Amino acid sequence: MYSVPKLGDYSAASLDQAANELRAALEQESSLVSNDSDWKTFRDRWMARKGGITTQLSDWLKAAPGPAKREVGMRVNDLKARIEQAVESAQQRITSARAGATGGLDISLPGIRRPLGAEHPVIRTVNEIVSVFKAMGYSVAEGPEIETDYYNFESLNFPPNHPARDMQDTIFIAGQESSPQRDRLLLRTHTSPVQVRSMERLKPPVRLVIPGKVHRNDAPDASHSPMFHQVEGLAVDTNITFRDLKGTLDHAMKALFGSSVQTRFRPSFFPFTEPSAEVLVSCIICGAKGCRTCKQSGWIELLGCGMVDPNVFEGVRDNGYDPGKVSGFAFGMGADRIALMKYGIDDIQLFFQGDVRFLEQFA
Ligand SMILES: [Zn+2]
Repeated sequence: MYSVPKLGDYSAASLDQAANELRAALEQESSLVSNDSDWKTFRDRWMARKGGITTQLSDWLKAAPGPAKREVGMRVNDLKARIEQAVESAQQRITSARAGATGGLDISLPGIRRPLGAEHPVIRTVNEIVSVFKAMGYSVAEGPEIETDYYNFESLNFPPNHPARDMQDTIFIAGQESSPQRDRLLLRTHTSPVQVRSMERLKPPVRLVIPGKVHRNDAPDASHSPMFHQVEGLAVDTNITFRDLKGTLDHAMKALFGSSVQTRFRPSFFPFTEPSAEVLVSCIICGAKGCRTCKQSGWIELLGCGMVDPNVFEGVRDNGYDPGKVSGFAFGMGADRIALMKYGIDDIQLFFQGDVRFLEQFA
C-alpha cells in the first residue's frame, strides 16, 4: 500500500515522479471504495489530521530547502486539492449507486395508474333523462335551491295555508318571521319553481327540461333521503292537449327503458296542474310479471304530470301566457328512484354516503 516517501532530491523530475506515484495510488484506492465503511477508511487514510497522507505531505514542504520550497509548495497544494476532490467524488459515487438501487427510475416498471373519476349513478341517470328530452327539442333550465315561498308554493297555486302544503315537509331558513310570507326563504321542495322563473324570462312557446336537487324534511331510510333529485318538464304553446302529454311521456319512457315498456295514466292531484295524473310504467325489472320492486303488480309509479293549471299562468300572464290563448303540460320524476331501479339497488342511502367501494362499480 502506498506511503508517502521522504524526498531525497528536489529536482523537478524527482518531484514530478513522486507526485505521479501519489496520484496513481489515490486513483487506485479511490476506485476500490464501494460502500460507506470503505469510504470512511479511505477518507481517514488520506485526510486525517493525524497521520493522514495530506498531513504527511506537509512534511515535504517542511523538509525542503529554501530554494526548492516554491516548487514543492505548488505540487503539495495541487496534490491536496486532488485528494479532497477524490474523497468527495468517491462519496458521491456510492450515494448515487445507492439511490439507483432503491429510489431510482426504472423505466421497465409499469406506470402508476391514477383512477379517473366517473359520473355518479344518479347524475348519469339525470343526464340520460335530460338527453331524451333534449332529443325532442327541449332546452335545459335550472334555478336556485334556496327559493322563496312565492316561487316554491304561491306561484304554483298553493296559496298560503293551502292544505296541499302539508304534503311537503319543507325545510325553512330560520329567522325570517319578520319577512312577509311570500319572501321567506326555504330549500325548494321540488324543481317546479323553475317553471315559473323560466316563464317570467321566456315568452311562449317553451319546452324545458329542469333537472336539480330538492330537499324535504324526511328522515333518511332505505327509500327516503332529505336531499334527492328531480327532473321536471314543461311545454307551453297554443293548442297543447293531454294527448301531447301522453305521447311525449310514453315516448320518453320507451326511450329510457326500452321500446317494450308500456305506460298507464291514473288520475291524481297536484295544485299546479289540472287535470293531473300519475304515470305508471310496466315493471322494468320483471317485465310486468310481478316482483318485489313492483309489489307483484307489474306496474311502477314513476312520474307525476298534468296540464298546467290556468292559475299558474295568471302570474306570468303579462309575459304572453294568457290562459285563454296558451296551454301546456308539466311533469316531474324522481331521478334517484329511477337510478335505484335501473341499477337494482335497494338502499337510496348508498348513493350519498360517498363509499368508494360502492361508487367504483359505476366507473
Ligand atoms: Zn316487477
